Amino acid sequence: MTSAETMEATRRRTQHRVNGAGSDPVEKSAQWGRAWEVDWFSLIGVISLLCFAPFIVFYFVMACDQYQCSVTQPLVELYQGETTFLTIWARAPSFSWSAAKIYAAWVSFQVFLYVCVPDVVHKFLPRYVGGVQGGALTPAGLINKYEINGLQCWLITHALWFANARYLHWFSPTIIFDNWIPLLWCTNILGYAVSSFAFMKAYLFPTNPEDCKFTGNVFYNYMMGIEFNPRIGKWFDFKLFFNGRPGIVAWTLINLSYMAKQEELYGHISNSMILVNVLQGIYVLDFFWNEAWYLKTIDICHDHFGWYLGWGDCVWLPYLYTLQGLYLVYHPVQLSDTHALAILVLGLVGYYIFRSTNHQKDLFRRTEGSCSIWGRKPSFIECSYRSADGGVHRSKLLTSGFWGVARHFNYTGDLMGSLAYCAACGFGHILPYFYIIYMTILLVHRCVRDEHRCSSKYGKDWKRYADTVPYRLIPGLF
Ligand code: NDP
Repeated sequence: MTSAETMEATRRRTQHRVNGAGSDPVEKSAQWGRAWEVDWFSLIGVISLLCFAPFIVFYFVMACDQYQCSVTQPLVELYQGETTFLTIWARAPSFSWSAAKIYAAWVSFQVFLYVCVPDVVHKFLPRYVGGVQGGALTPAGLINKYEINGLQCWLITHALWFANARYLHWFSPTIIFDNWIPLLWCTNILGYAVSSFAFMKAYLFPTNPEDCKFTGNVFYNYMMGIEFNPRIGKWFDFKLFFNGRPGIVAWTLINLSYMAKQEELYGHISNSMILVNVLQGIYVLDFFWNEAWYLKTIDICHDHFGWYLGWGDCVWLPYLYTLQGLYLVYHPVQLSDTHALAILVLGLVGYYIFRSTNHQKDLFRRTEGSCSIWGRKPSFIECSYRSADGGVHRSKLLTSGFWGVARHFNYTGDLMGSLAYCAACGFGHILPYFYIIYMTILLVHRCVRDEHRCSSKYGKDWKRYADTVPYRLIPGLF
């Protein structure tokens, strides 16, 4: 793979010099990233998302704030003429300077930690991979270096949060919940500012011009991004920063703030709130523990940085991935012991499958098959692929362990975990189930997108692999 990508990069570099931004037919065969051309269907989807996504987020948060988390009630009232969009809008808390100060302090603090605090955790935890790490090879043949310090930033941030809640009392632990809608304005401002900056930067001063992709359609370029790895200076990497912090570091803090609010309102914390905090906390910690591995996932290896990642990480992720905790502030569901135990088991088994599957592929690829999976030498399918310069290269597709059960069993584990967070909220409302619906669409789409790419990359070898492991997510079903 490495030599193939290097050759592809060399070819690409030459062609960019000759042809300018990629529009020639040979370039379309490249295996990286988003599309080179946009069909009408995609374009309509892109424009709709750009116009409506902020209102979708607003709708969910507003539904909790004004309608006790009922997603249908506002629609019913609108339909029956009992309320109007303007009334709903007027009732919602608006932008406030105090929220802006909180958010500015938060983002600045995360930038400071990301840029200025070198990782020391890896010196104390030998199994943890941190410090300076190389990413995957880019289409232009670069391997970017990253300072992997997410775990440390997460630990520092949470240590300060607990120190404040317990001893310092500089601010209330409910601060996030109390400013949730005013903060939505601030996150949107940052999300759009970052995406617009990244868009203009790609034209004016791209970090690496040879890794830029232009489709000729301004909306698609804005949404899906032009630059592959935009950076400021040597270390400030937009993709790693915005995806991990402020979004994912904030995830667990947001949940803690909901928990504090529940206690303030009802005098106790429900077992469902504890479950959501624990299960999502494990998922977030796993992300930071494996941040170096994350450099090799589709987000970093294939996606360009545009509104999809910039706005998505600033707004969509912190607001919609945390809906369960928000719901539980309004509905402090107390689960029976059996129900709680069933959810805990579902969440932990899902997490185990998610992590083990990802680990098996990582281990297999790192050791080039010289490893043991489920106590045996792994079985695999030898495959070959041709890079655009005509060179033939070899690769291996694992068929042992979870990769022999289904072709994307890591997604299945992720979905089981997602379902557990939602089911912790009981069955009173649909709102907390948005996450599992969204994740199912996201991962099924991702699965199809990835398989399309793999099929064009490996051809008949992929077919052999698909015959050996016939199901994508659920054996016997899909
Ligand atoms: P994967 O880690 O599954 O990577 C897919 C790639 O792995 C393929 O393109 C192919 O690349 C290679 N591959 C496929 N089959 C095999 C095989 N049998 N043996 C060896 N290599 C194989 O995909 P993602 O990066 O999408 O996902 C990583 C994790 O992140 C998942 O667990 C997912 O659930 C999670 N995720 C979570 C999200 C969230 O919002 N919570 C969003 C997205 C992902 P190659 O060209 O190298 O052969």
